[in-house]
Amino acid sequence: MARRPVIAGNWKMHNLQADAIALTNGLMAELKAEDKAALPEVVIAPTFTALYAANKALTDCGCGKVKLAAQNCYFETKGAFTGECSVEMLKDAGCEYIIIGHSERREYFGETDEMVNKKAKAILANGLIPIICCGESLEQREAGVTDYHIASQITKALIGLTAEEVAKSIIAYEPIWAIGTGKTCDSIEANRVIAMIRNTVKGLYDANTADAIRILYGGSVKPETIKEQMAQSDIDGALVGGASLKADSFAQIVKGAM
Ligand code: PEP
Repeated sequence: MARRPVIAGNWKMHNLQADAIALTNGLMAELKAEDKAALPEVVIAPTFTALYAANKALTDCGCGKVKLAAQNCYFETKGAFTGECSVEMLKDAGCEYIIIGHSERREYFGETDEMVNKKAKAILANGLIPIICCGESLEQREAGVTDYHIASQITKALIGLTAEEVAKSIIAYEPIWAIGTGKTCDSIEANRVIAMIRNTVKGLYDANTADAIRILYGGSVKPETIKEQMAQSDIDGALVGGASLKADSFAQIVKGAM
């Protein structure tokens, strides 16, 4: 089955509203000449306070080439959860995707596999697409437990989801030691881990589900690395941090995935 590539930009805690508008408009200008049908699924994930501004810029453009994501959500629908945003609220703000389980959220904000699972369920129940992040630390890699750790993160993230829900979901394999460090994981190795994730999904579900789910690589993806990454059998796109903060470098990555 041909899987449509996905290039998602995680803006992290960057960009005021005016910056978000400028970056969104800049990206759309860079993609203006491209045929929409030939583009990968292009997603940007601004911080909560810039979602409105970015969504307005996307809607005003009306080209439909770029979709909106949030960087986090809470799994409860509403109530006394100060500081949190429900999936319904993020959908209302224009989001179609939500990133969950990013290593920075796991490390600094105590996000557990159980929370990732509850968030995935809430996202899918609202008709949005979860981008489920997983990845090993350098210590885990050096200790030889990468595959065990990643398979465990994915197995726990998917508990209770139907095959249909999993087929729609996106996983991002992001080795922690490659995030924001400039050190990209070797493409052959990234592809090996991603194929292992696909095989884990096959074991939990079936071959069709494993074939359908998109699995991205993330970790210092740059315009110079994307072609080699996309040439691998199992890498379906990229989750991009630093290089998504400039319209030209993100657009080059998008074009490198066409
Ligand atoms: C990320 O934050 O998901 C990421 C991959 O960042 P970077 O591309 O900067 O390594």
